[in-house]
Amino acid sequence: MHLHGTSTINKDGHLEIGGCDTKQLASQFGTPLYIMDEALIRQRCREFVEAFRATGMPFQVAYASKAFCVMAMCRIVEEEGMSLDVVSDGELYTALQAGFPAERIHFHGNNKTPYEIEMAIDAGIGCFVVDNFVELHMVNAIAGEKRQRVKVLLRLTPGVDAHTHEYISTGQTDSKFGFDMENGSARQAVQEASSAPNLELLGIHSHIGSQIFEVGGFQLAVEKMTAFTVAMRDELGVTFSVLNLGGGFGIRYVEGDTPLAVGEYVRAITDTVREQFTQHAYPLPEIWIEPGRSIVGDAGTTLYTVGTYKDIPGVRKYVAVDGGMTDNPRPALYEAKYEALLANRASDQADELVSIAGKCCESGDMLIWDIELPQVQSGDLLAVFCTGAYNYAMASNYNRLRRPAVVFVKDGHADVVVERETYGHLVQNDVVPERMKPVTKTR
Ligand SMILES: *Cc1c(COP(=O)(O)O)cnc(C)c1O
Repeated sequence: MHLHGTSTINKDGHLEIGGCDTKQLASQFGTPLYIMDEALIRQRCREFVEAFRATGMPFQVAYASKAFCVMAMCRIVEEEGMSLDVVSDGELYTALQAGFPAERIHFHGNNKTPYEIEMAIDAGIGCFVVDNFVELHMVNAIAGEKRQRVKVLLRLTPGVDAHTHEYISTGQTDSKFGFDMENGSARQAVQEASSAPNLELLGIHSHIGSQIFEVGGFQLAVEKMTAFTVAMRDELGVTFSVLNLGGGFGIRYVEGDTPLAVGEYVRAITDTVREQFTQHAYPLPEIWIEPGRSIVGDAGTTLYTVGTYKDIPGVRKYVAVDGGMTDNPRPALYEAKYEALLANRASDQADELVSIAGKCCESGDMLIWDIELPQVQSGDLLAVFCTGAYNYAMASNYNRLRRPAVVFVKDGHADVVVERETYGHLVQNDVVPERMKPVTKTR
């Protein structure tokens, strides 16, 4: 069993995270419960920042907040001196409510609404990562109305498709995101953005994928982005000061996932940028990256209580927990794999093969197929690892389950950063029209 961060098995045979006994956390806060290892989150932040510092190159590390966007997380990101990516008015609102400095916020997304653009300009955000021509014109127009000049990057599709274990250079990219580099759109966008009166074009952006375990895709993206940067200088006389290479740095969910150390991704990127730009006698740009999953993913553990089980002889034993696709839709969405253990009997011999089911009315509501656990009993606590990214962020109220609480644990303390939803939350936006109200009998 691979334990992440500060996770250990204590003398009682209980899983302990951040110095907190998970059995105690379960009785104090209830289950399901998202537990975040604060020290591990901060460690990951520092690994990125320090790897860049060591290169001596100018940089910004922007946390892609969509992975896990709550106010306490925004506070950590600010304290660690990083920037923040948002992709919606809701994420922007969360960051601003948390007191995150607006000038360090970057706004992403392929369909920003006029309202979102106004809100972001009014807040004074650092830059827009402009995705398409409609947005380019809209941001310029809205900035003009507000007599502001706003900073923008252009999101490009560099034609690099980086899958988990491979990367391929595609001739042309079929993607809903960004300006195509090969069909002339990107060049056209540079032309328009650099001459738009209310825009200040800082540079270009690419994001080649997610859960990437190799540096080749990033290096290829840097090469393509550099070639484009040089071409824009030579052909249009437009220069860039920022090169943003996105996120997608892989993490270890299960055996066989082989991420590189954070510093290795950073060094591969900075080395390639330095080499490529120097080769073209181009001033070194500020390098921006946008890790999401690799900041929070392995810091998260979800704690469940085992309820029922069902043994189908010769077929499979299903063990059901008190959450499921509502708190972690990733297995159902993309067959994501997870590891788990019994948090209250973490040292017991794992000698039974079971599958972990959620409690929703969907056959696809499975968290883990085929995992070895000790003989499971009702009331046992199941800890599923690596649930820090895209779990709470994607949680739903399907079957009217209440979204779990989130606690940050550190040095033996547990702080609630998101309260468990109440029944009141479930119905607070429901409205029963007057004509449907239950009739109160007077007799
Ligand atoms: C999702 C996303 C990220 C973060 O991706 P991770 O795989 O979580 O690191 C970064 N940049 C952009 C533009 C994204 O869409």
